[in-house]
Amino acid sequence: SMNNESLMQRREQAVARGVGQIHPVFVQHAENATIVDVEGNHYLDFAGGIAVLNTGHRHPRVIDAVRRQLELYTHTCFQVVAYEPYVALCEKINSLVPGDFDKKTLLVTTGSEALENAVKIARAATGRAGVIAFAGGYHGRTMMTLAMTGKVMPYASGMGLMPGGVFRARFPDALHGVSEDDAIDSIKQIFKTDAEPRDIAALVVEPVQGEGGFRVASPQFMQRLRALCDLHGIVLIADEVQTGAGRTGTFFAMEQMGATADLTTFAKSVAGGFPLAGVCGRAELMDAIAPGGLGGTYAGNPVSCAAALAVLEVFEEENLLARARTLGDMLTQRLRKLAEQHRRIAEVRGLGAMVAVEFLTEDGHPDPELASRLVMRAREKRLLLLTCGQYANVIRILVPLTATDVEVGEGLDIIEACLGEIA
Ligand code: PMP
Repeated sequence: SMNNESLMQRREQAVARGVGQIHPVFVQHAENATIVDVEGNHYLDFAGGIAVLNTGHRHPRVIDAVRRQLELYTHTCFQVVAYEPYVALCEKINSLVPGDFDKKTLLVTTGSEALENAVKIARAATGRAGVIAFAGGYHGRTMMTLAMTGKVMPYASGMGLMPGGVFRARFPDALHGVSEDDAIDSIKQIFKTDAEPRDIAALVVEPVQGEGGFRVASPQFMQRLRALCDLHGIVLIADEVQTGAGRTGTFFAMEQMGATADLTTFAKSVAGGFPLAGVCGRAELMDAIAPGGLGGTYAGNPVSCAAALAVLEVFEEENLLARARTLGDMLTQRLRKLAEQHRRIAEVRGLGAMVAVEFLTEDGHPDPELASRLVMRAREKRLLLLTCGQYANVIRILVPLTATDVEVGEGLDIIEACLGEIA
């Protein structure tokens, strides 16, 4: 019979162990902020497939657009025979990505691939090979992005050394004793002890670290990074794979930073549940690679393009950027109230509707155990949560922006009840 337990057993036999799974749950169907499992249990989805469902599961507009696309064609390979939705999406993305300059866009399939390509473009444009990335940053599981990802366990464990030429800077984190000055100094230290600036092609930064614990870069910090990049001719790459598509209250988080990236990577919620990613940036950088140097068999798949174009319409029609800000206020206020009662909540932070809670022990150490107990207890009460953070001691909320206030309130009630029971 189809129950979660027997499916988990089959999974363990058939699927590689390295593919983790946070919730031992198998979906039957899903709609907006609700997942129904194979046993008929209804869950409130605060995980959003890791930041992919800002417009919810199966948004009717997205499903309609996909259905219409399925009736026309599903694949030609854009490099063989092109299709208009790819171009239309690039035009839209060029107008949405911040920056008062001519832009061009490349479409690919996954966030990792977007980051791989952003680095390739920066290398071709600068004739340099080095990359600076941040501790706690996450950019993917392919070899180069794994080298840039600033967390060894579990991502790179057992795989040996990653490709060279990646230098690690510190990310500001006041709670754990890293000031913005410390972070900037760590870059200057790289220039002193590891690599000359003229060998660095790109500096890659998430405006809000996603997997790294929803650590928010301040506008001042981003502006200092911009200034350093300008000084040394380094390409600034904003990885907006998790922060993008409206999560933070603007379509891209960099709109709130008072600094502009040269290249922006996007993925996840941009296509509302379909695989699509890309790089958008300064036209002269994007054109540094000769024809044939970019692309991929499925890159910019037409079904995904149709889904993404529908997502952009939904954002306008349903005013989802404003919704992200309201939702962010609602989540933050409620969680800050909770923090007054629960001393183990060390910080409630975020940007827009990208909100997280960090747990420390009584004596001030990261408390991953409490975070994981909360995730388990919440699941028993039918709320799906995710952890994140360098110490896995952070709970992040990525509920669809299309969830109702009632649903969001219910989720918060469950978090409150769980904390009352376990904290
Ligand atoms: N960059 C960031 C900021 C991400 O959050 C992720 C995915 N968590 C990636 C890159 C990689 O994206 P993907 O899993 O689609 O390859």
